[in-house]
Amino acid sequence: MSERTIAAIATPLGEGGISVIRISGDDAITVADKCFKSVSGKKLCELGGYQALFGSVVDRDNSPLDDAVALVFLAPKSYTGENIVEISVHGGLVSTRQILRRVLQCGAVMATGGEFTKRAFLNGKLDLAKAESVIGLITARNDAAVKITQSALSGKISRDIKDILDKLLETASSLSVFADYPDEDIPGLTQENFCKMLNDCRQKCEKLISTYDTGRIIREGISCAIVGKPNVGKSTLMNLLCGSDRSIVTDIAGTTRDVVENVVTVGDITLNLSDTAGLHDTNDVVEKFGVDKAKEKIENAELLLAVFDASGPLDQDDLALLESIKDKKCIVVLNKTDLEAKIDKSQLDGFEIIEISAKLGLGYAALSDKIYGICNLHKLSPNDTVLISERQLDCVRRALDGINEALDSMHLGITLDAVGVCIDDAIAALLELTGGRVTNEVCDEIFKRFCVGK
Ligand code: GDP
Repeated sequence: MSERTIAAIATPLGEGGISVIRISGDDAITVADKCFKSVSGKKLCELGGYQALFGSVVDRDNSPLDDAVALVFLAPKSYTGENIVEISVHGGLVSTRQILRRVLQCGAVMATGGEFTKRAFLNGKLDLAKAESVIGLITARNDAAVKITQSALSGKISRDIKDILDKLLETASSLSVFADYPDEDIPGLTQENFCKMLNDCRQKCEKLISTYDTGRIIREGISCAIVGKPNVGKSTLMNLLCGSDRSIVTDIAGTTRDVVENVVTVGDITLNLSDTAGLHDTNDVVEKFGVDKAKEKIENAELLLAVFDASGPLDQDDLALLESIKDKKCIVVLNKTDLEAKIDKSQLDGFEIIEISAKLGLGYAALSDKIYGICNLHKLSPNDTVLISERQLDCVRRALDGINEALDSMHLGITLDAVGVCIDDAIAALLELTGGRVTNEVCDEIFKRFCVGK
């Protein structure tokens, strides 16, 4: 257990029904008993775990600061694995801060970002993969992201990694027996068996790596730019997706002179959306600035919605746009389909096409399905394990490198000691993922992304 007893406001700062001040550490109950007076006169130190008292938090002179319920968790059966008291008070920015200040006066010190969860990790309450899923759950922006992080929080990543680790450890120990007794005929200890085990581990790592990108899109969303020449209906489409008049819609060409950005959720996917200025040749300095920015967006966006007016033939600007996006992940959106079609679709061969009328709101569901498909979201099955951080991906990639090198060495007939070293590298990378073997720096880096109070 840590020596310092820490405290922080665990709920978002602002007006609300309830705010919770969390205290954790050896002295959590002593600290809370100094500033909390129960109506019954009972002290918190007289309670068992998971028991609560109603009363008030009192100032130095015993004057009440707020009504409160104090809930006691006794080590090790708490979130951090330490003694914890959670004091629930009326939600309010100033009053909650006042109570935190009072708790600090009574002997606690202010917790740093993620310190409660870090203590939970250090006390063996959760591993690093689970700790990362806690952040994922807090920051999830859609139902699918919640599902992925809940699965990680339930231990799915950790179980899959343990499965690979167990196999690698078994292979490493069998290898050393095999190396020590080369002339003995020990059942199961054959080069063929080692390769089989390693190949199995390799496939499992590859599967984990393959779902990462889809998971990242679900969790973080995808940067998506709406592009097209002026007046094709880009801003109307932006407003349709946002469900509001975020972009200005007029029939004057060049109205959106800069980039308008918004975050929208379309089905299970979050789009970090930019409505760009219409792409065309212009001498207007301000417009030119917008057009340059639009070109930059085309370059950097992960997905393009390229809008064309289906009520007219494609012109040179349209064809130039098609040429510039042909190698990018994009959906060609044929807009204004409520009007008579004059577009020649044969010029769009090879593109993913969707027909809509942004003005009438027609085609939204089909567009949403198309985005889902182009981002490969349908490839993710509910039982897939999804890595939820770049760090986890890096660990599995390093493990895969180690396994591949071990297999190569085996095939090349290099000494079994060398093969063992490669397997050890893979084991170390996976232990780093779950936190079984991790440096303080990596640990600090992870927990500093948490908010204070978590
Ligand atoms: P942008 O310059 O590409 O952003 O185009 P806007 O969204 O500002 O739209 C230009 C004009 O086309 C406006 O008068 C819109 O009302 C009109 N418009 C946009 N979408 C449609 C559509 O689906 N059907 C029809 N008939 N008009 C549309």
